[in-house]
Amino acid sequence: MAATIIDGKAFAARVRGEVAQHVARLKADHGITPGLAVVLVGEDPASQVYVRSKGKQTVEAGMASFEHRLDAGVSEAELLAVVARLNADPSVHGILVQLPLPGHMNADAVINAIDPAKDVDGFHISNVGLLATGQKAMVPCTPLGCLMLLRAHHGSLAGMEAVVIGRSNIVGKPMAQLLIGDSCTVTVAHSRTRDLPGVVRRADIVVAAVGRPEMVTADWIRPGATVIDVGINRVERDGATRLVGDVDFAGVSEVAGAITPVPGGVGPMTIACLLANTLTACCRANGLPEPEGLTA
Ligand code: NAP
Repeated sequence: MAATIIDGKAFAARVRGEVAQHVARLKADHGITPGLAVVLVGEDPASQVYVRSKGKQTVEAGMASFEHRLDAGVSEAELLAVVARLNADPSVHGILVQLPLPGHMNADAVINAIDPAKDVDGFHISNVGLLATGQKAMVPCTPLGCLMLLRAHHGSLAGMEAVVIGRSNIVGKPMAQLLIGDSCTVTVAHSRTRDLPGVVRRADIVVAAVGRPEMVTADWIRPGATVIDVGINRVERDGATRLVGDVDFAGVSEVAGAITPVPGGVGPMTIACLLANTLTACCRANGLPEPEGLTA
């Protein structure tokens, strides 16, 4: 059986298009332009690529993009002062501090200094708590993107068995909360899980967020299951660098009912959801109705 390919690239383009329509309406009807500020500390090459891409897509959606680039040696106090200025700036509705931060900084302290209402990454402890208690929150972008793809593919997820592999704060844990919110029966697996293939084989939905190239193989997958591959791993193959996920795509797509490719699956959804979160934050800040279907 050949799995349906869940085309995250096309879906993300639709989400960005919807966001752009809402932004145009906000401007026309209320004279409001949503603004996203991204703070980058240091020269990490991957982070620079992400930040450039975020800025470009923010502008394409009609939003205001503010970039703050700080030296790797900047003190935590200086970074906190930038965050405080952005918190107080009414033209900024979303703030994202690009991770990882240099080793001399306490990332938790920096993230928790962001106004939770502007925390479009959804990493602030208040948003984590709101999500965990089923209240309206800013939802982390990557798991939100996975949830959107799953809802679009299945409609209701109620009653489905979901296994999330990975328990990080940025993907695994919020993914589990979102799936619980949609009434799945959720298992969170990690490096200490016993008989991981056996656990994964129970799942109607598998979300792999591990960071190990092609770890999940066809014999782990229940026939017909939906497999969401969050992993982004660079591997050397045939003398070239290639991007692969945490799932052995070739093998698993023979068994699964549906699968996201890497690249072109979850990856593009992350920035699309960042734009959606910025729009949502802007609507909430202005007491306007939130666009439907763009948050959990
Ligand atoms: P992370 O913080 O390193 O967490 C990895 C998780 O995988 C941990 O919970 C770890 O378990 C678990 N794990 C590691 N080895 C395992 C094994 N052999 N068996 C079972 N579980 C194992 O990673 P992350 O930040 O969540 O990211 C995961 C992957 O997603 C990475 O490839 C990353 O690049 C990718 N990612 C993609 C996007 C996107 O936009 N598509 C966004 C974020 C991340 P322990 O907790 O026990 O150590």
